This record gives sequence, C-alpha cells and structure tokens, in this order.
Amino acid sequence: MDIFTKAVHAGDRKRPGPAIPSTTPIYLASTYLYERVEELDRIFGREAEGQSYARYDNPTNAALEELLTALEGGAGALATSSGMGAVHLALLTALTDRRKSVLAADALYGATVSLLLTVLEPLGVGVRFVDMCDLEAVRAAIAAERPGCLLVESTSNPLLRVPPLDHLARLARGAGAALVVDGTFATPLVLRPLEHGAHLVVHSLTKYLAGHGDVLGGAVVADADHLATLRSYSRIFGPVLGSFESYLAMRGIKTFPLRMERQCANACRVAAWLAAHPRVERVYFPADPAHPDAAQIRRLFAPDRYGAIVSFELKGARQPEVFRFMDSLRLIVRGTTLGDVHSLLLYPVMSSHREISPKQRQRMGIRENLLRLSVGIEAVEDIVADLEQALDRFAE
Ligand SMILES: *Cc1c(COP(=O)(O)O)cnc(C)c1O
Repeated sequence: MDIFTKAVHAGDRKRPGPAIPSTTPIYLASTYLYERVEELDRIFGREAEGQSYARYDNPTNAALEELLTALEGGAGALATSSGMGAVHLALLTALTDRRKSVLAADALYGATVSLLLTVLEPLGVGVRFVDMCDLEAVRAAIAAERPGCLLVESTSNPLLRVPPLDHLARLARGAGAALVVDGTFATPLVLRPLEHGAHLVVHSLTKYLAGHGDVLGGAVVADADHLATLRSYSRIFGPVLGSFESYLAMRGIKTFPLRMERQCANACRVAAWLAAHPRVERVYFPADPAHPDAAQIRRLFAPDRYGAIVSFELKGARQPEVFRFMDSLRLIVRGTTLGDVHSLLLYPVMSSHREISPKQRQRMGIRENLLRLSVGIEAVEDIVADLEQALDRFAE
C-alpha cells in the first residue's frame, strides 16, 4: 500500500464496542478494568493483549504507533513525549547487550550532542564523533572503538549532507553494532531507513509528521529484534506521549504525505530560484547535481523528493545584514523549529549552533551568513516574493 493511503487508514477504526469510531478517540483513562479479574491477570502476565495502565498501554497511542509502524515499515513503534525522549530511548535500547559506546555523526541536532556528552558519557558510555559521509573514517573508527551503536541523521542539519545509510548499516551489522537513524529531516516520504538496514528510527513528531506547530512529541520505530526491549524500557521509565498529543499527531499525519509532497516541490523551486539570485552566495539542497552526496541521494531518496529544507548563504553578509534580512521578512516566520505548514527561517549561528565555538563552527562549514529555510505549503510565488523583497533590502 502506498504511503498516501497508509497515512489515512493505518491505526484507525478499531472496534472498542458494537460501533466503530471513524477516527480513534482520545483515551484519557489512567487505568483499565475487566469483567473478570482473570482477564487482567492474563494482561499483566503478557499472555493476552490489552490495556491495564496508561504508562503501559493507551489505545490512542497504540493507533498512532500502528500508523508510524506502517509509514516506516518497522515491526512496531513507540510514541514519546518529545523527539529527545525518543533519541534517548532509542540509544538505551540499542546499547542493551552491546558495548556501551556510541559512534555518532559529527553533525547532529544540538540537544542530541548534549545528551551524548552531558548525560551518557558521564554514565560511562563511550562517545566518539565521526564524519558519517566518509566511509573510510567510519571503518577506522569502528575498528578503533568497537561501538555498540552508530547514531546518524538521515539528512544533516543545517548543511543537508546525506550519509550512505545502506553502507553504514552493513558496517554496523558486520561489527555487531546497532544503527540508529534520526529521520526527522527526511521523513518517511523521502527515505525509510529501516528499508536500508537500520535497526531503529527516531522522529521528532513536532516537525513534519504532526506538522502544524501545535504538538511536542517523538517516536521510535523499531525492527523486530529491538521492539520488546523498547517497549519494556518505556514501561519502566515512562517517557510516553499524552493521548491528546497522540490524537493531534495522528490527525496531522493524515495529511503529512500531501503536505510533504507539496513542501518538497516548493523547496525545489525555492532552491533553484535562490541559486540564481545575485545576492545569494551559495545554496545547499540535495537536488543540486553538484551535491557532495549526489550518489547517495540518487540511491536512497524517493525520486524527485529531496526534503523541504533549503540552506543558503547571503553574499557578503555578516550578523547585522543577516538580522536585517530576517527583520525584512513579512511572510516567512522567524522560528527555531521546522516542518510546519508555514515557511520558517532559522539563523543557525544565533540559535541551533550558538553554543558551538566560532572555530568549531568554521570547521563544520557553518558560516556567519548561513540561513536555514523550512519551506512551507504556501503558494511558492508568495514565498519567493517574500525572499526577493528581503534580499533587496539586507545590503542597503
Ligand atoms: C527537533 C529535533 C529533535 C528533537 O525533537 P523535540 O521534539 O524537539 O524533542 C531531534 N532531532 C532532530 C533532527 C530534530 O530536528
């Protein structure tokens, strides 16, 4: 079944009684009881499926989890209270029965780096960073560190590098390590990491999947080998998503493929337009034939879908000019997030990469004139017109 069909059918229309609700209701009950205690006994004993307590099971979450499993092609999923909760849970699941060492991509979401360095490393987990697009470097790091887990984002932020997930999965499996992929930027419309050999996929539902700027949530989708551990850990430390957020996420996902398809198409147009503008120094976008990972992109991405983030550099701009450009925007929202229905612009040096030293930022290729645009579903002419009038002003 196609992802457009799954998005509106998977998980819904379960029969709680004689009638079948057209969409899954919000279940707020903290506890569930049965006609006969024996039934609850069997559920507690895991001999039968069913609800007993909201930290263990919730029908609204179960519907969302079934939907996410269908979108990613996994064995099962767990909805969490944030994307970071999902990253944490996925890493602990991956490291169970493996060496307590993570080989992580050198370009990762800021809070993920903090999780590794300020939470996991002090607990004794080995942490090392490597350029995941450089397979020779990855091979050497695996040989040196013998990691229990590789952690990578399917599209890096903000320079949109695309690591060879299929090759990384082979290397990880050869070394007995798990491959955990944060698929937030690419989304399952563009790339489904489990199909390329990853063990666990993480999402911030807050971004494209829920998509309307009104939900904080996350998810882990697991293969069959990791599902039991994932569920068991969630029951123990309880990072579960509330059922209201779960409902909103599911409602959002019904139009996710439609939104994302449009956002991908808009992003292609915006990237091409920016690349031809005399005040734009450089554009980073996976559709660029000169992209350093063009081979991976051709192999891994769905045809004609490149994601909906466009990063670009303003020619000759330093911080005051970047601020002037941002202050001139009338339509595009200056917000720190991404993936909403409306276009959003972020200045990495000021926000997502603020804590990184200028020297380190320079090494990462994140320049003072770099902006990251999350392209929305608006008419693309209106997005371009807003960019055009702001580009006309920033250097004045
Ligand atoms: C936003 C984001 C996260 C964290 O998600 P929250 O829902 O904010 O906790 C993790 N990874 C990536 C790539 C993100 O963009």
